Amino acid sequence: MLKNQVAIITGSARGIGKEIALMYYKQGAKIVVNYPGDFEKEAAESVVETIRSEGGEAMAVCADVTNFKEAEELIKTTVSTYGKIDILVNNAGITKDMLLTRMTEAEFDAVINVNLKGVFNCTKFAVKAMLKTGGKIINISSIVGLSGNVGQCNYSASKAGIIGFTKTIAKEYGSRNIRVNAIAPGFIQTDMTKVLKESVKEEMNKQIPLKRLGNPEEIAKVATFLASDLASYVTGEVIRVDGGMAM
Ligand code: NAP
Repeated sequence: MLKNQVAIITGSARGIGKEIALMYYKQGAKIVVNYPGDFEKEAAESVVETIRSEGGEAMAVCADVTNFKEAEELIKTTVSTYGKIDILVNNAGITKDMLLTRMTEAEFDAVINVNLKGVFNCTKFAVKAMLKTGGKIINISSIVGLSGNVGQCNYSASKAGIIGFTKTIAKEYGSRNIRVNAIAPGFIQTDMTKVLKESVKEEMNKQIPLKRLGNPEEIAKVATFLASDLASYVTGEVIRVDGGMAM
């Protein structure tokens, strides 16, 4: 479905990003595995090694998405290596949960910087590179960007911001054949949710019609659909992948 496409997935050394990278490669894409710093280099190189050992093309590129210059370099390195960019998945994200009155300015800023400013930085340079060829942008939002969540005013604001950003860029660049969509995952089993207590997970399961947490592959499948021609007339959309939790 993604033969000869070039895809950057931000924050793809682990978690949902890694699954998207692996699924895109299996569908024929060349993969840029982005990671933010040296501490994640080994994990990023291991994703690249997995792809190369199976005959695919991939490279790891270090860039902190909050850094405007590094985001520009990420896109430039991709274009100079593979000649183009077809798909950008803005997946990098962090949480720093706290009730509003106890949340520090630093906790608020850090989450907005990675989750929202990072999306602006990468999308700006990717869209520039896609203007002549067209392309696909997939932004990983969250159901808490739709519904809000206690203890996550920074995170839910960043994820709601992504939805407004997605719709705006879809309107601005639809005429250039650039499709921009968002995925709003529910609770997915990754390092981000591993920290939750069993009792909290059980409570969540009760609120999910499918009665279980999701897994990263289930996000990757929808990200593959959105990047492929199966979604050729889909833009400005937000797809919930949450077992029915937020309907
Ligand atoms: P994860 O396992 O914590 O992975 C997040 C990835 O983002 C990590 O590889 C991390 O690298 C990277 N990252 C963080 N800051 C970065 C930066 N400044 N520049 C580049 N990369 C950076 O989380 P996940 O669960 O896979 O989440 C992936 C996305 O899905 C996030 O946007 C998250 O908000 C969203 N999401 C997740 C869930 C869920 O239940 N898991 C639900 C809804 C939405 P380091 O480890 O080096 O920091």
